[in-house]
Amino acid sequence: MLPDDTFSVDPVEQRPDKPEEACGVFGVYAPGEPVANLAYFGLFALQHRGQESAGIATFEEGDVIHLHKDMGLVSQVFNETKLKDLPGYLAIGHTRYSTTGSSRVVNAQPTLAKSRLGTLALAHNGNLVNTSELRAELAETNHDFATTTDSEAIALAIAEEVNRGNDWVNGAINAFKRCRGAFSLAIGTPDGMIGTRDPNGVRPLVLGTLAQESQDQPLRYVLASETCGLDIIGADYVRDVQPGEMVWITEDGMESIFWAEQPARKLCIFEMIYFARPDSLMHNETLYSYRLRIGRQLASESNIDADIVIAVPDSGVPAAIGFSQTSGIPYAEGLIKNRYVGRTFIQPTQGMREAGIRMKLNPLKDVLAGKRVIIVDDSIVRGTTSRKIVRTLRDAGAIEVHMRISSPPVTHPCFYGIDTDSQDHLIAATKSIDEIAKQIEVDSLQYLSWEGMLAATREDPNEFCSACFTGDYPITIPETIKRSKLMLEKTAH
Ligand code: SF4
Repeated sequence: MLPDDTFSVDPVEQRPDKPEEACGVFGVYAPGEPVANLAYFGLFALQHRGQESAGIATFEEGDVIHLHKDMGLVSQVFNETKLKDLPGYLAIGHTRYSTTGSSRVVNAQPTLAKSRLGTLALAHNGNLVNTSELRAELAETNHDFATTTDSEAIALAIAEEVNRGNDWVNGAINAFKRCRGAFSLAIGTPDGMIGTRDPNGVRPLVLGTLAQESQDQPLRYVLASETCGLDIIGADYVRDVQPGEMVWITEDGMESIFWAEQPARKLCIFEMIYFARPDSLMHNETLYSYRLRIGRQLASESNIDADIVIAVPDSGVPAAIGFSQTSGIPYAEGLIKNRYVGRTFIQPTQGMREAGIRMKLNPLKDVLAGKRVIIVDDSIVRGTTSRKIVRTLRDAGAIEVHMRISSPPVTHPCFYGIDTDSQDHLIAATKSIDEIAKQIEVDSLQYLSWEGMLAATREDPNEFCSACFTGDYPITIPETIKRSKLMLEKTAH
């Protein structure tokens, strides 16, 4: 979820050297029960999808809404007192990452919008590509915008459709049809909870249920960006919300409505490679299993001998283990991650930022000294972190450092809810693999092939978005937005 159609870019060196997931969404509907604590734990499990702000809105009988949102981690934003101030049987929650320029509490979610049927609360993961258009349409009916976000535009569009005389279901569907781009949404209303995914299903959204304590108890439904958000509260995974589907959950149960005219399947492949938690299920297996397979595939495409295989922790670990299994080269831990350190870009000075990588990753000298090392990572964006890691390994005594990447070169920015740099800052967009190897100071560098990445999914390769590796964007991007991030094409034309 990014502000407006323009992408604010922080000073390059201050930005993390990985694509950043932009949001996690959560919803729970349990008539007669307080649910704020369930939402808190759900967001806690989805913390990896956004670390800059968090929020929960709860609904009580009689169109009473409570909302608390603030900047910070879920554990910083909420405490027992704050959760007690959120009574209600329906909760919508959100964790958000954004670029620094838009890190304002007003942009934190859930977003509220008033309608003739009551107030709605909306949590969004994704990014619209027609925000300006939608906001211009909404401005014609004098909507007051509190933010510049696409999420607010969706919420206001639903309210507008409801105010035209539609019920919640038709109002929401009419509004979804006005949106283009990536959107997985959890929406609370005084009459029920809505979950939906855009017609391409770019971002994930799953449906679960809490176990019934008696046969008379109504089914209690949960929506979450990933299944780890269900596991943490003991909810059973039922199924994915399908691309272009809306689920409408009320005291009468759940209704499924397919609203998109031409639904497709274009799940973001980066969710599989890196963003989603390894213990989350996608395509009926944990992502740990997929990441093991891409490591095996990477090994089968690699021709280098070494003494040990290590990972850039934590995200490179499953692929490194898979690499070791197929290559027969022993897996070892070579870098220890300090799990209590935040993102390196909070360091105020360049010198301290340089030191940041040592704050996060410390080498095991006994393991590395005198060894030919293969290090597996999930991706390279700008390459600045990679070079620091390689220097760390050499300082610890590694005699050769070979880097293997469990995804293809990232050559294009994302417009669908992942915060990547503009194209001119993506190292693989401007340099050959040999040039990158030289820049990050490795003895050899190899990326996983695009075909290998998709084959390892064991699904139809056409059912994924892999545009940041190919530039083949499944949802058309207006020229004005393209120009904000496709800097190289802009220069070329
Ligand atoms: S462009 Fe890349 S990061 Fe964005 S949705 Fe497609 S695969 Fe995912």
